[in-house]
Amino acid sequence: MGMIDIASRQSVWRGLDYYKQKKVLSCKANEDGTYEGDVAGSDDKKYHVHLDMTHPRKSTCDCPLANGKRIICKHIVAMSFCVDSSEADRFKKEKTNYASEEEERRAKRYDRYMKRAKYMSKTELREAYVEAMIELEEIHRTEKYGNNKG
Ligand SMILES: [Zn+2]
Repeated sequence: MGMIDIASRQSVWRGLDYYKQKKVLSCKANEDGTYEGDVAGSDDKKYHVHLDMTHPRKSTCDCPLANGKRIICKHIVAMSFCVDSSEADRFKKEKTNYASEEEERRAKRYDRYMKRAKYMSKTELREAYVEAMIELEEIHRTEKYGNNKG
């Protein structure tokens, strides 16, 4: 399991940003195969990262989020991308695949409803439209205020 498989999605996204913005200031290999380095924080601070690619959970960072906890923060992720940029590519590819699948599903749905609409009369279309709008409004209302029917 790589770093991107066990870190939270948010840490991976932010880590990717940090990596692209070149916020990893230094990264040195230790003799035991781990890495040591500094990553710039969001303010003028910089954080020290100890990176263990073989045992990702043993990585540490002294930022407020991860310090003393077994949390893989964006700083650790950013440095791991410096060590192995193929992981960053793997993550980006995963995301792109997901996005294009979503697009495909949407296109299929569009075709399906369009096909159905072609065989409907004007009255049927009007009724279906109004019903769909009411349903949509009810869904939004339930999302906003919760379902208080039950
Ligand atoms: Zn950190």
